[in-house]
Amino acid sequence: MHPGATTAPGAAPVTRFAPSPTGELHLGNARTALFNLLLARHGAGRLLLRIEDTDAERSEEAHTAALMADLRWLGIEWDAGPDRPDAQGPYRQSERAALYAAHLARLEAAQRVYPCFCTPLELELSRRAQLGAGHPPRYAGTCRGLSPTQRAERSARGLGATLRFQVPAGRSIEFVDLVHGPQHFRSDDIGDFVVRRADGSAAFFFSNAVDDASMGVTVALRGEDHLTNTPRQLLLLEALGLPAPGYGHVALIVGSDGAPLSKRHGALSVREYRERGFLPQALLNHLFRLGHSGAPPGLLTLPEMAACFATRHLGRAPARFDEAQLRVWQKDAVHRLGADELVAWLRPLLPAPAAGPGASELARALQPNVVLPEDARPWLEIVFGGAPPLEPGAERVVREAGAVYFAAAAAAAREHAGDLAAIAAAVRAATGRQGAQLYLPLRLALTGRAHGPELAPLLKLLPPGVARERLERFA
Ligand code: GLU
Repeated sequence: MHPGATTAPGAAPVTRFAPSPTGELHLGNARTALFNLLLARHGAGRLLLRIEDTDAERSEEAHTAALMADLRWLGIEWDAGPDRPDAQGPYRQSERAALYAAHLARLEAAQRVYPCFCTPLELELSRRAQLGAGHPPRYAGTCRGLSPTQRAERSARGLGATLRFQVPAGRSIEFVDLVHGPQHFRSDDIGDFVVRRADGSAAFFFSNAVDDASMGVTVALRGEDHLTNTPRQLLLLEALGLPAPGYGHVALIVGSDGAPLSKRHGALSVREYRERGFLPQALLNHLFRLGHSGAPPGLLTLPEMAACFATRHLGRAPARFDEAQLRVWQKDAVHRLGADELVAWLRPLLPAPAAGPGASELARALQPNVVLPEDARPWLEIVFGGAPPLEPGAERVVREAGAVYFAAAAAAAREHAGDLAAIAAAVRAATGRQGAQLYLPLRLALTGRAHGPELAPLLKLLPPGVARERLERFA
């Protein structure tokens, strides 16, 4: 068992989210960040945000800024990160080159690494040859045995070199994965791997492992695609005499059909969901339950999620992202919005006449009928647009109510404009109708539909004269 692979019992965990800023924050990464946050909060520990941008060609500062904004929008707040420095920082790998160089120098001095002059083409040919022979491809060790003279001669020819870690032969590497349980790898199955790229930058395996150790990370929850990287990183840490975190590899997220999540399942990035009007609370609740079982039902806050989070509840099977389920959480989250939050959420859609004090009442009226802001659109059209056409079947109800009914209603509307109670009282007095008999024809004439938001606030917002016009149509 790897000696460093467990956290001292009772110690507050230090977790980290370590995205590479090569694109948008995807659902899978957002969930990884969430789980690391919850693990930290559950144990009164700390979450670090580390930007893995050593690959200068693929990393962009704009992506880092967007990742941080998306995390914050979700409510995922880190204790230390690029914008929250502390003694273990800096938290951008591009600013940690000196640390990597120092550790690489130690490996060089201990002769645990060697320069490799193989070109990409040579490596590809070797890979194909191995695959052709039915072997899993790995670095063939071509440059491992070069003499100092041969190395000097190649360097003199101007050949760029990567630096490879010399994987010790005949070793068994064991560790307990926090999700998958005991793991066993053989070092003989692992080819010597690159720790420094030809351009001098530290490679992923190396910088990632060194940083976990130097930042004091005790638990690293990350995607399952990194599981086979772990034995390499344990060997590196061992060679450097550095402690390893406990690793947990979280099962991948798949679409509702079980296939790996891709564009055809819908939006993949947090930004897209935010722009469609999904609320962070809804996204968090769906992500939280993807691969984490044993949570109480209902919409949970982050502290509530943290209270019940445990790595033993993380499943090994792929978790299914399902937009229909997300919408269920969303409905719940919308239902719980306070008046101001609700108005802010609908604001982009609200026309100028609804911007005043009526906005809050309108938003409240729409609240039970909308899952996404766009669902408010038809109702806003009903209030602020032209007279709405009657839905099928409505004509009969309206005709049956009759001219006396609508004459009384229109007269009351002329006098009392947006006051539903006054209009209803006048119609009641004129027709003796009550309950649905009284209100349904009014609703149909005013909105065209039998169902929808509460009528009184909608009526209040109708521009002057509009209610009367709509009622007069049937008088
Ligand atoms: N930068 C790596 C990634 O985004 C981090 C992997 C890890 O969490 O160790 O996949």
